[in-house]
Amino acid sequence: MSKELVRKSMPQRKAKERIGDFQEVNLGYTEEQAILEAKRCLQCKKPLCIKGCPVEIDIPKMIEYIAKGDFIGAIKNAKEKNALPAICGRVCPQETQCEKLCILKHKGQPVAIGNLERFIADWEASHTTNSKEYNNKEQSEPNRGAKGIKIAVIGSGPAGLTCAADLARMGYEVTIFESLSEPGGVLRYGIPPFRLSRGVVDREIEYIKNLGVDIKVNMLIGQIKSLNNLFAEDYKSIFIGTGAGLPRFMNIPGENLNNVYSANEFLTRINLMKAFKFPEYDTPIACGKKVAAIGAGNVAIDSARCALRLGAQEVSIIYRRSEQEMPARDEEILHAKEEGVKLFLLTLPVEYYSDEKGCVKKARCIKMELGEPDGSGRRRPIPIENSDFEMDIDTVVVAIGQSPNPLLLHSTPELKVAKYGNLVVDEESLETGIKGVFAGGDIISGAATVIEAMGAGKRAASSIDNFLAKK
Ligand code: FAD
Ligand code: SF4
Repeated sequence: MSKELVRKSMPQRKAKERIGDFQEVNLGYTEEQAILEAKRCLQCKKPLCIKGCPVEIDIPKMIEYIAKGDFIGAIKNAKEKNALPAICGRVCPQETQCEKLCILKHKGQPVAIGNLERFIADWEASHTTNSKEYNNKEQSEPNRGAKGIKIAVIGSGPAGLTCAADLARMGYEVTIFESLSEPGGVLRYGIPPFRLSRGVVDREIEYIKNLGVDIKVNMLIGQIKSLNNLFAEDYKSIFIGTGAGLPRFMNIPGENLNNVYSANEFLTRINLMKAFKFPEYDTPIACGKKVAAIGAGNVAIDSARCALRLGAQEVSIIYRRSEQEMPARDEEILHAKEEGVKLFLLTLPVEYYSDEKGCVKKARCIKMELGEPDGSGRRRPIPIENSDFEMDIDTVVVAIGQSPNPLLLHSTPELKVAKYGNLVVDEESLETGIKGVFAGGDIISGAATVIEAMGAGKRAASSIDNFLAKK
């Protein structure tokens, strides 16, 4: 392969060292590495990479700035479309989005767009956060609240944050209502700090606050206040971005035993409530030595890798299809394997057994084979007769998917809910059945990706602006 086609790999910590703590695994490019990587870009006349980005960053322009060593120009360019570049640079599945469409992918390896985005966001933070002058200039919005119109955003995940940031830039007075004690949604309670440090989440949320967005935490809308209350408080439009945080279970015998967790509870205890720092933080977590995470998405892999860092000795992923169908990001699967997580593929747990204290001690599993593709396009797993076997385990984390958070939807009967609990919206405008109420992110799509949620937040912000302009 010629030199230009080989991309700069991301420097990272060694597996043995990194499983001893929750610090970030990837270390980020140096300036030299970023410039070399940026110089690989062909600056295509019709750049397909932009089409793969749900928030439509002008990727070639951003890369051109980096190649010239103008990192401020690059970050300004990215932030025009994306208020969370350091987060996206770390967790976006670029391999299925912008990088999948990069012309260089067909010739060898795509430009490492995600790594470059991470680089410029981190470069900005380390070179400019101490400069008051720079911050005031970059972050003050000339039209902060200029329209004098109040808008409420429910939920502070990537959908809510993005919608709020765009509306604040347009001159609206935006308040986010978040039910948890800290803002960020899955970025805070789901994705572990070894993939996305909490300093980075804090920093990018601070940026959004500096745009003029007010964030009120511990505000469970649907219980503390209804949508009608918000309208009565003079909010002229509402965006719902309450995500998909309701865990799904397999409903098999033994799933209610002690030490069988939903991934949601397991990860929230660790990431939001900092159980990994117990007793410094007052949240214990019972994580044994032989842990199985059920499922093969990012959530399952994150759970398995957290268990390793809590001291588990044998950690397995149990998945009913083959590695090819695993929905997790390639990088996460690779990192998990490097760290010692074992994959039990084409395997399905069908029952858990209890010890004398009511804690899980074994799983009975069956082997599967793949048949014809099902509705999802993936080959359907079919049980193999008489293939039962038992596994010793003392902790199970069920990570087979999440459904939309139901509370607000149930307490607001005017909102239309589809079969799987998703909120129904107009496909174009993202308006719900209630006039002036819009929605986006996992609440409408079911569990998806950070950048898709952000794309929906952006579209909704533009629809809200149009809606209010017509009033
Ligand atoms: P969320 O991030 O879920 O935010 C919704 C917010 O609304 C939450 O803060 C919630 O507390 C709040 N809320 C809920 N109900 C109410 C209410 N009634 N009142 C007020 N507030 C409320 N995607 C990727 O692209 N890359 C990854 O690597 C990746 N890894 C993931 C790992 C895990 C463990 C999980 C769970 C998901 C992962 N995802 C990943 C998916 C991605 O995080 C989600 O698609 C995205 O966060 C959805 O954004 P959202 O804003 O719609 O919802
Ligand atoms: Fe550069 Fe790839 Fe985009 Fe072309 S498609 S402009 S090579 S990043």
